[in-house]
Amino acid sequence: MSQSQDSAVEALDRTHSVLNQTPPLEDYNLYEADIALREGVRREGAGWAEAELRAHGARCGSAEVIEWGFLANRCKPELLSHDRQGHRIDRVRYHPAYHELMRLGLEVGLHSRPWTDAKAGAQVARAAACYLQGQVEAGHCCPLTMTFAAVPTLRMTPEIAQSWLPGVLARGYDPGDRPAAQKGALTIGMGMTEKQGGSDVRANTTSAQPLGARGSGEPHRLVGHKWFMSAPMCDAFLMLAQAPDGLSCFLVPRWQPDGSRNAIRLQRLKDKVGNVANASAEVELQGALGWMVGEEGRGVASILEMVALTRFDCIVNSAAAQRQAVSQAVHHAMHRSAFGAALIHQPLMRNVLTDLQLEAEGSLALALRMARALDHPQIEAERLLLRLGLPVGKYWVCKRTPGLVYEAMECLGGNGVIEEFVAARLYRDAPINAIWEGSGNIQALDVLRVLDKSPAAIDAWFAELAETAGAEPLLDAAVADLKAALADGREREYRARSLVQGLALSLQASLLLRAGNTGVAAAFIRSRLGGRGHLYGDLPRGIDPGAILARGNPRPA
Ligand SMILES: Cc1cc2nc3c(=O)[nH]c(=O)nc-3n(C[C@H](O)[C@H](O)[C@H](O)COP(=O)(O)OP(=O)(O)OC[C@H]3O[C@@H](n4cnc5c(N)ncnc54)[C@H](O)[C@@H]3O)c2cc1C
Repeated sequence: MSQSQDSAVEALDRTHSVLNQTPPLEDYNLYEADIALREGVRREGAGWAEAELRAHGARCGSAEVIEWGFLANRCKPELLSHDRQGHRIDRVRYHPAYHELMRLGLEVGLHSRPWTDAKAGAQVARAAACYLQGQVEAGHCCPLTMTFAAVPTLRMTPEIAQSWLPGVLARGYDPGDRPAAQKGALTIGMGMTEKQGGSDVRANTTSAQPLGARGSGEPHRLVGHKWFMSAPMCDAFLMLAQAPDGLSCFLVPRWQPDGSRNAIRLQRLKDKVGNVANASAEVELQGALGWMVGEEGRGVASILEMVALTRFDCIVNSAAAQRQAVSQAVHHAMHRSAFGAALIHQPLMRNVLTDLQLEAEGSLALALRMARALDHPQIEAERLLLRLGLPVGKYWVCKRTPGLVYEAMECLGGNGVIEEFVAARLYRDAPINAIWEGSGNIQALDVLRVLDKSPAAIDAWFAELAETAGAEPLLDAAVADLKAALADGREREYRARSLVQGLALSLQASLLLRAGNTGVAAAFIRSRLGGRGHLYGDLPRGIDPGAILARGNPRPA
């Protein structure tokens, strides 16, 4: 073949050069780059934790850890019901990347820190670290959260606390399928939901019969089922079951103290749209051994201690998903050009991205304010703020996330829906936090319950809002509207979502004002309290996107 024929063939072979594609967002520091997070950590009392958060932020932004997130989702957990000889083993096999993510979180104490080192700001520091790791992968955060959240419930029964807390609080990860006594580090799961109803756990049919004496700390045999039980390789589960004196809470280990497997049969794993790295099992309890935690007949009250904290983590992890989605969108817009200019410079795209960043900032501010309230349970006003703030935040931040993530995905164009890009997984994961741990309506109804049972909570809320009274007329008007809506007793349940929205937006606006960035706060207030904002990208005139967008840039120069 002649030289000219050769080059013609080569030219045919080389159909095109790859141009105008965005480089991967990796090897960046998630903490260092996040101005709003750094400000929030200092503002809410965890400035002392910045060095370790910076280190964790670098780890979470490394290409290696980001790849773990992809692998843990691409290679789904697999149920091994029996071994090759036919013995029942009820084990789940995960990709090694899932174990690496678990180890990373457990070694930095995402499950234990405020319980082992209860200094002021410990909850804020932990929340910030969760916010960083939640941006890598959401599924593995479920067992980290449940282990963290189980601690107050475990503490209700001293003999259980004594034998289990050393392992639960230990920093480290031991994925071995062995009795708890043979392991240095333990994780805890939760089994409430049954087929006939998850929100209404009073409908639970699983029964618990005492083996001898009755009451707190005593062993029982549980017979029944659980319809959703996530992270089934946890070492033990807090479960609800009907004891002779009513619904009670039990600690049910995977292994019995005699070294045999407990009768927790994993029937199958759920095939979920999102949260794929995390296994969620359907379970039968065929006489499983469990110890009563808390008082007999007060199971809901006992497990609600845990649920309050899992709801808190739903807020933190949804805020994390928002931040990661905005980071991906801004990063893409900075590197992608269309019609002759980078997307980041095009006015309509600037409107959309700025709006997304405002949402993410409002969510983070609310999450960190609740973390500070958790840090100060001895202060009555903080306790009351939290009591209302958890259902308000769980409702609002989790519900705002799917819409935001979808919009961020659209900023990436077609790449946004391709599984090789983080945006697609963020989208599939986005609705989960709103649904589990009490779905939206349940949160709204809980807010009404708080208003009825703890009227002082709304006083604490308005005391918080009073800090910014007079600063922004639109916020003052929103607070006045909220007061009127709360005073109106007609069709309250029908209007509950609207009330919760008013509570959430006014608190977010006030917190952003107090955070001191007037550009962010004014833009949030004008877009959220000014009667607009049905879809993202509807910011009014007179907002300076440049400074706000700079805060969304995950890789500032
Ligand atoms: C990925 C995943 C993992 C999970 N892992 C666990 C786990 O580890 N442990 C566990 O115990 N559970 C787990 N769950 C279950 C989850 O907590 C429940 O699905 C959830 O609480 C809702 O319960 P349900 O599915 O029975 O729906 P239902 O209770 O039937 O509710 C259906 C809808 O009705 C609404 N609703 C209910 N009552 C009212 C009312 N009075 N007024 C207005 N609306 C109402 C709810 O808000 C919801 O939107 C998991 C769920 C998912 C998706």
